[in-house]
Amino acid sequence: MSAPLPAHPPAVSAAAGSGAATIVAVATPLGRGGLGVVRVSGERARAIVEQVLGQPCAEPRRVRRVTWRDPLDGALLDDVLVTFFAAPHSYTAEDVVEISGHGAPVLLRALVEALCRAGARLAEAGEFTRRAFLNGRLDLTQAEAIRDLIDSQTLLQARTAAQQMHGGVARQVGPIQQALREVIARMEAGIDFADDDVAVPATAGLRAGLDRVQERLAPLRASFRHGRLLQQGLSLALVGRPNVGKSSLFNRLLASERAIVTPTPGTTRDVLAETLDLDGVPVRLLDTAGLRTSEDAIEREGVARAWQALGEADLVVAVFDASRPLGPDDDRLLQHLRAMPQALLVLNKVDLPRRLAAGELAEAVPVSALHGTGVEALRDRVRQRVLPELGMAGSWITNARQAACLDRAAQHVERGGDAVTAGLPHEMVLLDLYAGLRELDALSGQTTVDDILEVIFATFCVGK
Ligand code: GDP
Repeated sequence: MSAPLPAHPPAVSAAAGSGAATIVAVATPLGRGGLGVVRVSGERARAIVEQVLGQPCAEPRRVRRVTWRDPLDGALLDDVLVTFFAAPHSYTAEDVVEISGHGAPVLLRALVEALCRAGARLAEAGEFTRRAFLNGRLDLTQAEAIRDLIDSQTLLQARTAAQQMHGGVARQVGPIQQALREVIARMEAGIDFADDDVAVPATAGLRAGLDRVQERLAPLRASFRHGRLLQQGLSLALVGRPNVGKSSLFNRLLASERAIVTPTPGTTRDVLAETLDLDGVPVRLLDTAGLRTSEDAIEREGVARAWQALGEADLVVAVFDASRPLGPDDDRLLQHLRAMPQALLVLNKVDLPRRLAAGELAEAVPVSALHGTGVEALRDRVRQRVLPELGMAGSWITNARQAACLDRAAQHVERGGDAVTAGLPHEMVLLDLYAGLRELDALSGQTTVDDILEVIFATFCVGK
C-alpha cells in the first residue's frame, strides 16, 4: 500500500494556529455506549483538562487512568482514560487531549460542560478536521475523504474513501499540476528572457506539453462516472402492470441482499423505496404502482409517478406475467422500453402454466418471485449492468466538487492549447493556463476561498 503523503504547507492564510480558541466536543455518537470519547484541541487543551480532572496528563501519547470527581462535593463520577497528543503530532496539529470515559450521555455532557467552564468552547461541525486542514495536516481531498469514510454505507465506499484519505487523489493530481507548471514555466521563461537569447518555445513543443496535461486529466475526469455511482448509488425501478409480481420481486431482492437501513429522502407514497448493497454499490430499489390506464384520479397519479420513475431510474426492470397473455398495457410498456437500453425484461410466475405465445419475451429473464427461482440469475444480470460501469478497483474521483474542478481545469487548458495553435500572444495563453492551475490548486485546497470551506466543513458531524 502507498505511504501517507507528507504534510503539505499550510494552505490558507488563516491557519488555525496560535490564538485560536480551544475547542471541545463528544467524538462518539449520541446515545448510550460502552465508551464515550471527548476530544479537546487547542493551545490550552492540556491545562483545561488538567484543571477539570485535577490531575496532570501523562507524557504525550501515553494513556493515564484518572478518577474524575464532581468539583462541588468531590463525589466520584467516572474512571476515564486520558491521552495527550502534543502539537504538531496530533489530528489537528494542535495540542489535543482525548478523554475516554463510559458512554453515558449525562456524564459526557457534564464533562463537556465542565471543560467549557474551564475555558474551552464547543466545536462547530467539522472544526477538528478544518483545523487539521488549515494547519497543513491534510489537504482538502483528504479532509473530504474522512467525511466520506464516516458516511460510507458499503464496504466498497469505505475502501475508496480510505484510499483517498491516504492521499489517493492528491497523488494523481500532483503530477498533473507539475506538468502544467512546467509548461507555464517554459512560457514564462520565453517571455521574460525573449531579449536574452533564450528561444521562445516552439508552438509544437508547448502544444505537446498541454496535450500531455490533458491526457493525464482525462482518465481522472472519466473516473467520476464510476465514482459518482459508487458515492451516490443508483436507482433501479421495478415497473409493469398491476399483479405481475413487482412487489413480490421487490421483497425477494431485498430479502436476499443486505438492505441498507437509512431513510430514503424524496420517496412518495406511491413509489416504495429501499436501498440495498449490491457488491458495494448502493442500489435504491423502487417499487412502483402498476402501469395501466385508469379512470381513477388517485390511481392515475400513481401511474404517472411510475412512468416518471421509469424515465428517471438508472436501471429499469420491467416485469411481465408468464401466466397471462400480454395485454395492451404490456404492449405499451414494451413499446416504451424499446428506446431504453438500460431496461431488463423479467418474466415472472414461470411456476404457473405459460400463457404467452411461443417465442414471446424470449429475451426476458425467467423468474418465480413466489418460489425464488431465477432471482439469483436476475441479480447477476443487474450486477453485470452495474459493475462493468465500475470497472476494477482504482482511485476514482467520487466528489462532485473535485470533478467540477477537474472539468474546469481541462477547459482552461484546452482554451490555452487553442490559443497556442492560433498563435496568440503568450501572455494571453498564460491567463488560461494559470486559471487551469488555480482549479487544480482549489481541488486540493491550496487556494480554496473561505466561504467554500464553510460549505464543505458544515457537512461534517460535530466532533470530527
Ligand atoms: P404487483 O401488483 O405487480 O406488485 O404484484 P404482487 O407482487 O402484489 O403479486 C400479485 C399476485 O401474484 C400475488 O397474489 C402474488 O402472490 C402473486 N405472485 C407474485 N409472483 C408470483 C410467482 O412467481 N408465481 C406465482 N404463482 N404467483 C406470484
